[in-house]
Amino acid sequence: MTIKIAIIGSGPSGFYTADALLKGDRDVEIDIIERLPTPFGLIRGGVAPDHQTTKKVARAYERTALAEKVAYFGNVQVGKDVTMDEMREMYDAVVLAIGAPSDRKLGIPGQDKRGVYGSADFVGWYNGHPDFTDLAPNLDTRNVAIIGNGNVALDISRVLVKTTEEMSETDIALHSARAIENSPITDVYMFGRRGPVEAKFTNVELREMGKLDNCVPIIDPAQIPAEIIGEMSDRDRRLKERNLATLREFSDVDPTGKTKRVHFGFYASPVEVLGGDRVEGLRLERTKVVNGRAVGTGEFFDIECGLVIAAIGYFAKPIEGVPFDHEKGIVVHDDGRVGNGVYAVGWIKRGPTGVIGTNKPDGETAALQIFEDVPEGGKPGRAALRDRLEARDVPFLGYADWQTIDAAEQAAALPGAPRRKFVKVDDMLGALDFRR
Ligand SMILES: Cc1cc2nc3c(=O)[nH]c(=O)nc-3n(C[C@H](O)[C@H](O)[C@H](O)COP(=O)(O)OP(=O)(O)OC[C@H]3O[C@@H](n4cnc5c(N)ncnc54)[C@H](O)[C@@H]3O)c2cc1C
Repeated sequence: MTIKIAIIGSGPSGFYTADALLKGDRDVEIDIIERLPTPFGLIRGGVAPDHQTTKKVARAYERTALAEKVAYFGNVQVGKDVTMDEMREMYDAVVLAIGAPSDRKLGIPGQDKRGVYGSADFVGWYNGHPDFTDLAPNLDTRNVAIIGNGNVALDISRVLVKTTEEMSETDIALHSARAIENSPITDVYMFGRRGPVEAKFTNVELREMGKLDNCVPIIDPAQIPAEIIGEMSDRDRRLKERNLATLREFSDVDPTGKTKRVHFGFYASPVEVLGGDRVEGLRLERTKVVNGRAVGTGEFFDIECGLVIAAIGYFAKPIEGVPFDHEKGIVVHDDGRVGNGVYAVGWIKRGPTGVIGTNKPDGETAALQIFEDVPEGGKPGRAALRDRLEARDVPFLGYADWQTIDAAEQAAALPGAPRRKFVKVDDMLGALDFRR
């Protein structure tokens, strides 16, 4: 009998799981359930708007979504429109592919002042994620501090300093593009607790900072170690050497003629957000790295800034009826098996690490486990979900509806841009002449 599988979440891990299930030799029916009307998770809402080539991975997901055995249920939130218990009742297997959408907090005094944001919120705002459309960050500041030494910190810095022309071929949300263009921001300070060797940037992203039309990277050469000490694989050593070489080039850059700067500040740990109600500055402690860990030196310094963005990692949200590890910020599982017919893939399983492709093996593992654990189907699956949603008047979307939204966004694009995103759920549904 057909095995009825629900995949909750339409990001990379959800699509890789669907793809792996389709490649198996079993008779399956797969429903992908997504809380937003729009699919693709962080490919749409996380990956930087000026990285359109990366976003093209969604084309492969589209082929999966259009497969005969697959159906898309957009605008359906598990935990709100339908419960986990109901999902388990209706499906032979339920795969959690819901990501890790919450920010890790800085954990320092002043972190709740106005003008302090986590990267999930800030990135969601400029990427047109409906949850963050009304964030309205006050960008009336010359200086911005970004905490974190990974690609997300680089993404945010770049988006804040690129010119209107550089951003014209992106799908940045229009309200954010206008706010950034009209802001007086000239200096972005990126701070990391440890040094350039420990930084998590990939070299391709790092090098982009040296190729901006109106911005130069600034780094104090004294912060760049002459050599890499310590045990690591040859591959890791090569990658780190490349980053050091790029930073050395940056330390030599001539800033003449450019009006914006991204400052790389290593060995600096934030200790307090300064100001009254609003952020006015950041206090940091200089650190040194001992056995790979940042240790405070007791020397402090302040910078003035009107905006602080923490890009220090993500945390999953607990989902009712599923055991959650609050320490790690992921669901409790045994290599993806949560128990009771539930499986986990992607960031809700592993935490927020790796690149898009890192989610693929999770999908393959989950498919194998499902085939092993559920030799025979028997539950009603899609028909039952549809009945339930209709009975509750949930305005759910099919994949063709998303294609209509997609076409409307593309048709509304400004010259050169791939699309103009809808940033509110109501506007997305409005594009559909929705009657259900
Ligand atoms: C800012 C940022 C930039 C990145 N840039 C890159 C990059 O350039 N290149 C790269 O390789 N990787 C990048 N990554 C990493 C990559 O995006 C992740 O590896 C990947 O998206 C994780 O996939 P996922 O499916 O686990 O989660 P997600 O992509 O987060 O997908 C989860 C999906 O589940 C949905 N969902 C959540 N809860 C529910 C619910 N209760 N009911 C129904 N649906 C639900 C969400 O709406 C979402 O669509 C970036 C990550 C971030 C945060």
